[in-house]
Amino acid sequence: MTPPFPAVVFDLDGTLTVPGTSRPAPGVVALVGALHARGVDLAVATSASTAVARRVLDDLGLRACFTAVAGRGVDGRFDGKDAVVGEALLGLGILEAAPGTPMLGDGAGDMAAALAHGLVPVGVAWGGAPAGTLRAAGAHVVLEHPDELWVLGAS
Ligand SMILES: [Mg+2]
Repeated sequence: MTPPFPAVVFDLDGTLTVPGTSRPAPGVVALVGALHARGVDLAVATSASTAVARRVLDDLGLRACFTAVAGRGVDGRFDGKDAVVGEALLGLGILEAAPGTPMLGDGAGDMAAALAHGLVPVGVAWGGAPAGTLRAAGAHVVLEHPDELWVLGAS
């Protein structure tokens, strides 16, 4: 079976989780599991520390699904979302993203970082940012539910 996407990059807070919590956003655990089962390489790119991100993924039972987890370093250094997305892609062994590689995020910064790396900016409505804000930041689409991602893979 051909993977529906070359790879997928996820923001953490407000995208994989309910904003400000470590609880999974409805539908994301199933989505991540299904993408992984289909052989899609997955990465997390977050402004949280990498250690915290790994722990959250552990708690969600999703850690093994992710090949790369990029976040703030142990020294607290954070060079912006753009930089962590680049690090996440390197973690996947991607120097140049294949066309149709989506990045899901709930913030304008996620959309900008996706564009900077040639990823398809996909906004998620469950993080709380207005869809209009995400579209203005470059989102090609704003998902109301994680399952809507599959439509992009089919097109
Ligand atoms: Mg977020």
